Amino acid sequence: MADTQIVVLGGGPAGASVAIGLKRLGYEVTLVGEPRPFDAVEGVSDRVVEGMCHAGFERALTTLAAPSARSVTWNGETSAANTERLIVRQRFDRALLDDLQDQGVRVIQGRVTATTEQGSGFRFSVCEADGSEHSLDAGFLVEARGRAAPASGVPRVRGAQSVSLLQHWQGKADTPCSAVQSFADGWAWMARREDGRRYLQLTLDVASRRLPPKQQLGAWCRERLLQLEQAQPYLQDAEPVGEVYARTSTPVLCEHSAGDNWLRVGDAAMAVDPLSGNGIFQALSSALQAPAVINTLIRHPERAAVAKVFHEARIEQLFYRFARIGRDFYDQESQWPQRPFWSARRAWPDSQSLHLEVTPDRVSTGVRPVVDNGLITEARVVITPDQPLGIWHLNGLELAPLLDAIRRDCDLAPQQVLARHIPPQQAAQLALWMQHQGWI
Ligand SMILES: Cc1cc2nc3c(=O)[nH]c(=O)nc-3n(C[C@H](O)[C@H](O)[C@H](O)COP(=O)(O)OP(=O)(O)OC[C@H]3O[C@@H](n4cnc5c(N)ncnc54)[C@H](O)[C@@H]3O)c2cc1C
Repeated sequence: MADTQIVVLGGGPAGASVAIGLKRLGYEVTLVGEPRPFDAVEGVSDRVVEGMCHAGFERALTTLAAPSARSVTWNGETSAANTERLIVRQRFDRALLDDLQDQGVRVIQGRVTATTEQGSGFRFSVCEADGSEHSLDAGFLVEARGRAAPASGVPRVRGAQSVSLLQHWQGKADTPCSAVQSFADGWAWMARREDGRRYLQLTLDVASRRLPPKQQLGAWCRERLLQLEQAQPYLQDAEPVGEVYARTSTPVLCEHSAGDNWLRVGDAAMAVDPLSGNGIFQALSSALQAPAVINTLIRHPERAAVAKVFHEARIEQLFYRFARIGRDFYDQESQWPQRPFWSARRAWPDSQSLHLEVTPDRVSTGVRPVVDNGLITEARVVITPDQPLGIWHLNGLELAPLLDAIRRDCDLAPQQVLARHIPPQQAAQLALWMQHQGWI
């Protein structure tokens, strides 16, 4: 089974991360990717850069700009406290394909035009960059074609339908920067590259906002941007170039993201609202443990149910966590509560608080799937309201047996109980940590 031919469809951050992870586990991997067809810039934090280093994106990382100033005007207030790093996606994605080749992944640059199930595997039709067509077989499929991935019959949870209109402007070379501003019908994100290219993106509600025909979209965007204070430095001495590009930005979660011989990762499994600015982070997070899931599905089919639960539970948890972060951010904008864009987004996905209180009576131990040495297995973990999937280790210590011991010996101070299992100083530190967490 370890000879299973694995094919990854899509060479964005998620597909690239899984392909490299599988290669590190010793698998032969083929990735089919069509370069991004439009020019987009996206912003990421240092945390994402760390994730990319970990994933092995060496060449792609060299395409990132240095951190630049980010200004936010939300609920009528402006703050300019943080920075972000701008990524020119076409450049970054091309370098990702180079990283993959460097690390021994077979890369086919082309478009997957059809996928069919064949026996116990899959057959793909691929149209390569030079126009040649051929077919490719796989025993295991990793679906990482982002939002463009076909639904393949998988039901989806969707947030309010959103579209992001991207207009490119060109001006003279200037310091890179980015900005966000809310307005009555949505919000705008703006970025300027060092060479003077500017990206002005309006995110709107699909249901309530009637857009003009395509040929009038450019003038329509320009008119709205001229009304936004934050947009002015991006429009000054610049002119729109090319056509407006519309990207769907509705939050979407696939209700199933794992099968016995397939896995969905990144935006193909769940795509978040771009407001969170965490799309790439989320794509990487969903892909991080996917190689262990695939390794288990291939080498230990008897553990398939556990591996699938592990993957799907993590995808779902990530999705709702970022959906609630987005909801709370939308809720902070109170100038237009009755406008459809804002009223739909401040109440979705639910009213559950992002941070749930942790008290000892709400903390338990139980058996959950975990990653161990490149495989999914089951272990006893500590389950809390804000970590429902469980916490297994802390600095190499298995926490659940220690918490169980504290609870069994409730007449003794926690640190005394812990000192029976670990050195006294470590016991004192861990007891304090557990108290801070609200476990004891
Ligand atoms: C409007 C908007 C703004 C955003 N801004 C940000 C931001 O500022 N910061 C941030 O972190 N995230 C942002 N995101 C999210 C980010 O783009 C995604 O979350 C992230 O790229 C997902 O990575 P992925 O690898 O899952 O998919 P993708 O990056 O979409 O990669 C999928 C790849 O598959 C390829 N592909 C598609 N179909 C085929 C096919 N048939 N055959 C072969 N290849 C195919 C595509 O060309 C692409 O290369 C934004 C998203 C939107 C919609």
